[in-house]
Amino acid sequence: MTEKNTTNILHGVAASSGIAIGRVFLLEDDEFCLIQREISKEETKREITRFRDALVKTRTEMLASQEKIYKTLGKEYARLADAYLLILEDPLITRDVVKRISEGVNAEYALFRILEKVIRSFEMIDDEYFRERKHDIQDVGKKILRHLMGKERRSLTEIKEESIVVAHNLGPSDTISMRENLVKGFVTDIGGRTSHTAIVAQSLEIPAVVGLRNVSAYVRDGDTIIVDGNQGLVIINPTPEVLDNYKREQEIQFAQVRELEKLRDLPAQTTDSHRVIVAANIENPEEIKSVLKHGGEGIGLYRTEFLYFNRSSLPTEEEHYQNYLHVTQKMLPYNLIIRTMDIGGDKLANIGLEGLTEESNPFLGLRAIRLCLKYPSVFKTQLRGILRASAEGKIKIMYPMISGIAELRAANKILHETMDELRSEGKKFDENIEVGAMIEVPSAALTADVIAKETDFLSIGTNDLIQYTLAVDRVNENVAGLYEPLHLSILRLLRNVINAGHSAGKWVGMCGEMAADPTFTMILIGLGLNELSVSPVQIPKIKKIVRSISLLEAKALAEDVLVSPDNESIIKKIKAKEFMGNA
Ligand code: PEP
Ligand code: MG
Repeated sequence: MTEKNTTNILHGVAASSGIAIGRVFLLEDDEFCLIQREISKEETKREITRFRDALVKTRTEMLASQEKIYKTLGKEYARLADAYLLILEDPLITRDVVKRISEGVNAEYALFRILEKVIRSFEMIDDEYFRERKHDIQDVGKKILRHLMGKERRSLTEIKEESIVVAHNLGPSDTISMRENLVKGFVTDIGGRTSHTAIVAQSLEIPAVVGLRNVSAYVRDGDTIIVDGNQGLVIINPTPEVLDNYKREQEIQFAQVRELEKLRDLPAQTTDSHRVIVAANIENPEEIKSVLKHGGEGIGLYRTEFLYFNRSSLPTEEEHYQNYLHVTQKMLPYNLIIRTMDIGGDKLANIGLEGLTEESNPFLGLRAIRLCLKYPSVFKTQLRGILRASAEGKIKIMYPMISGIAELRAANKILHETMDELRSEGKKFDENIEVGAMIEVPSAALTADVIAKETDFLSIGTNDLIQYTLAVDRVNENVAGLYEPLHLSILRLLRNVINAGHSAGKWVGMCGEMAADPTFTMILIGLGLNELSVSPVQIPKIKKIVRSISLLEAKALAEDVLVSPDNESIIKKIKAKEFMGNA
């Protein structure tokens, strides 16, 4: 703990963009004082009953939170809470803790030791997503301990004025109460980019920084705090000068947002009337509100993996159908491009498929379309859901990770079989549904001319295309500096794919993060992309740039960069153009 009014700057993970300034509301002081107590044989029974009572109370509390999430954010988010309920029912908790108590220790201590063991094994897992799940186990453990010890956690409902929440960790039920509770931003000790908290924060558009290690120990209730969700910085008790600077910065950002909102209903059109589409990438239906608020002209990438996470069974055809139907109807008259599941790589889900083993190189392994081709019945279930929904909306299908024409044909064969089945069952679908391929593997980019002939559109996934072309793991911070979207090899591949698509008379889009970076917009338009699909909050910024350039100057810049030897000079050229302004 620092002296009050001492300025502290902490660096963490930028989880949700924007700047928030306010007073600290310290959510918890979770240091439980655990005492090991030996218990007699007679006490064992009572201790086990006390433990089981605590489990029942924890379950009741969790179900109430889940209900609240369901009502506020909907089914998809409520499912996040299923993961917590599953932990509570796991034999590690229900069986092993009881066994430990029977060996003669008090319930709190028995639970603590079992959790410690489980958490240690999670820490050894290489995969970031799974490693982070240890925080869920810690959270559930704390809830049970609180009931065992009769300790009440401070609640967000106690917040009476605009505040910044500081906590060791926040569960989905906490983040969901934020909107109603004057929370302007939040910061936590733990968590990473894939944590549930970060996902919900982005969708609620609350600035957040996570993974600060010990911020909850640095602050006291009422401290002044700045959350810089753009840079992943937190400043505690800033000097008046820093505070003024941030207030000015915040004002500028608010003004920019207000200014950008005016573009909402205007088309993404260059000054010489060249029209492109600025669509949105979404990962769950709750983001539709944000897409429409920011003026998205459709969904260019619906990542459907969400449907497979945090559950022990596969989604049914009906779940797929209902989900896609809901999204497409909300998005009308715009298009919805549904990407078939891209499980694998850094998007692992334990979907319980027989024969699926751990791989040493998951990004090069049985991922996305490869997984679907190996398990056609799983693929068909999703395709049936998509096709049925296509009868009642404007849907296109997109396959991820296509590496060549053979894979595309194999996927299309299953699609056509599925269509035949639906026809024979008398079930309706859009007979002219467009089917596209993501171009995100260099082999596909180099053979895009062949692929384009057998698809209706191409969409470039630069997140993977850059990773595979430059041999840079996209989630490894040690090589992050080598991840260069403007590498000449990438620019040449982009040109190749776009030209190949156009020569075959097909439209070409981009749904990788490169499309969302305003620095690259002009080059991408100049290269000839027809659609940019970006995260909802980026839509107005990209639209603004499109509307302030001419196709002619964009083309000239694209030609220039294709002959530039290094990308520093390219960035300089782009920054030199006035219209970049402060986008
Ligand atoms: C990509 O690879 O660019 C892409 C959009 O797909 P994802 O990030 O889901 O792998
Ligand atoms: Mg990808």
